[in-house]
Amino acid sequence: ATPTALMAGTGRGAQLGILIRGPQVLERAGRVDTVVLDKTGTVTTGVMTVTDVVGSVGADADRVLEVAASVESLSEHPIAHAIAAAGRTSFRNLTQATDFDNAAGHGVRGRVHGVDVVAGRVGWVASETGGDIDTDLRDRIDAAEASGATAIAVGWGDAVRGVVVVADEVKPGAADAIARLRELGLTPILLTGDNDGAARSVAAEVGIDTVHSGVVPEQKVSIVRDLQSQGARVAMIGDGVNDAAALAQADLGLSMGTGTDVAIESSDLTLMSGDLRVAVDAIRLSRRTLSTIR
Ligand code: ADP
Ligand code: MG
Repeated sequence: ATPTALMAGTGRGAQLGILIRGPQVLERAGRVDTVVLDKTGTVTTGVMTVTDVVGSVGADADRVLEVAASVESLSEHPIAHAIAAAGRTSFRNLTQATDFDNAAGHGVRGRVHGVDVVAGRVGWVASETGGDIDTDLRDRIDAAEASGATAIAVGWGDAVRGVVVVADEVKPGAADAIARLRELGLTPILLTGDNDGAARSVAAEVGIDTVHSGVVPEQKVSIVRDLQSQGARVAMIGDGVNDAAALAQADLGLSMGTGTDVAIESSDLTLMSGDLRVAVDAIRLSRRTLSTIR
């Protein structure tokens, strides 16, 4: 492509709300054939609310929410915002947690009332505490996940003490964006650290057939790399700290303007509004830019 054509394309992108890191980005964008999408905050709004709280092993639901909210008030994750907000609504004053630690893609740790608390992915919390998940709690978790929600386990003192269930919604326009990607001959793939039930429910709602769930950030990178080694030209769309490495690995990294700074810095294109239909506009614009100058 000529520098002038690329310059014009970049200007057109800005009008569409697409921030383009450099003119060469359009050449790569015009050649992608596979689009890997993060779920939370990319295909869904990422604006979570708490829909249920369950206590177990001697802890009641109030205690589980209060303790989880104290730790989550120190995290930037969308799940954390929901749990902290619910805690503030129920208890007004939350105890300040100390010794906070964020395990990206897994959950958080902190000390509350002199007790070490972990909150996050169910399997991770079980292994961190060494605690089993009792049968009733397992049933509640399975039911929540089957409905498309995310169950966050909360544990302390060698036991999994309960779960906080959170849920968000598919973004308006997401299903439309996926349909338009298909019309362009692109293959969409959903990639998420979240549980399989939530992942499949979102995939079905927007029309994606291929789903990789429960992946940790390093696996997001290796899935992109595997697709590339099979000959795919991969665009990755994401918003989180956990997506940064995969955005950098992809042939084209697209971030949400509503996402984290690290995701934006690791990407080639930023969609200012976070609207997925604009990602399709970006790829169409790039293809047109390439074809006008050939
Ligand atoms: P996604 O790939 O859907 O954007 P993440 O990789 O950020 O999700 O997180 C994967 C999973 O790790 C979440 O579904 C949740 O179970 C857990 N998790 C991550 N961060 C937190 C947190 N701050 N509090 C609780 N759970 C968390
Ligand atoms: Mg995300």
